[in-house]
Amino acid sequence: MPPTVDLRSDTVTQPTAGMRAAMLAAPLGDDVFREDPSVNALQDNIARLLGFESALFMSSGTQSNLCGILAHCQRGDEYLTGQMAHCYRWEAGGAAVLGSVQPQPLNHQADGSLSLDDIDAAIKPDDAHYARSRLLTLENTLGGKVLPFEYVQQATALAHSRGLARHLDGARLFNAAVAQAAPNGQTPWQQARRIAQCFDSVSVCFSKGLGAPVGSALCGSREFIARAHRLRKMVGGGMRQSGMLAAAASYALAHNVDRLATDHVLMRRLALGLKNIDGVEFEMPQTNILFVDLTGAARERGAALIEHLREQGILVTGLYRLRFVTHLDVDEAGIDRAISAMRSFFS
Ligand SMILES: *Cc1c(COP(=O)(O)O)cnc(C)c1O
Repeated sequence: MPPTVDLRSDTVTQPTAGMRAAMLAAPLGDDVFREDPSVNALQDNIARLLGFESALFMSSGTQSNLCGILAHCQRGDEYLTGQMAHCYRWEAGGAAVLGSVQPQPLNHQADGSLSLDDIDAAIKPDDAHYARSRLLTLENTLGGKVLPFEYVQQATALAHSRGLARHLDGARLFNAAVAQAAPNGQTPWQQARRIAQCFDSVSVCFSKGLGAPVGSALCGSREFIARAHRLRKMVGGGMRQSGMLAAAASYALAHNVDRLATDHVLMRRLALGLKNIDGVEFEMPQTNILFVDLTGAARERGAALIEHLREQGILVTGLYRLRFVTHLDVDEAGIDRAISAMRSFFS
């Protein structure tokens, strides 16, 4: 049996030999005393690379978004966000439950953006009826879609002009930056920094396409990160010799940013291979994620399809809408097997 091709998520990657060696070699200390040199080096590095004063290593993207939102907002404030935003829909309502911060979700446009008119209309006047509009959050990439850079500039400028802070859930910021770099005449790091600089705070994940086992970073001003530091402690995120994890993240930043382009090429290959199958519809992927809708009679066959793929060693998630994600541990041969398995099911 050939190896399993796990296309469920870019979180399933195994640390490479080089990453494991970096983890083993990492100098360690107690990070609650702020004495872990590997954590400090990662935080300094990611803050500098994205153009912020300060950064904080977080155990997860969920923790990073939560501490970010709570560091911007007080009890009774609200954050404008997207209906499909991870920090609204997929984080167990943490900002509301733990912070008494109300989400104001807005519908997405087809390209994943929130319209400027909707943002403008959702910002509440200072009136006793309303929660205080305090923050706009955007997500980039969102479901694999890259927000147009001009849009990011406009939406964040609008929020700023209305007195709102701006937070980016950049779990896959580097996928966006890699996809947008060349058309903008930038390197991926330059583009990542340009996107990040539109915001007051940015959360990035190391455990997605970058291939680290654990961890995210929250970036912002020194004062903002000081508030987030207390909140991280409050939610149990004060870690000790976490330098082994930070070393994996530093390794990922040094080795795995540019190679995200490979994931995007493989995803395009998969999409092209699935073209013109009756019962299958999708938009061409922009980065490393593809959503495939089952239509017509195929809609009732989702469970059977997933089982058929599993028997061929191909793992995906979904039911009526399948999700395929490429990452470090997927190669061309695996993608071609996924295409064949899909085609054999529908033939
Ligand atoms: C995965 C993800 C998160 C949360 O990261 P975890 O480490 O799984 O908590 C946040 N935002 C987006 C867009 C994500 O894809």
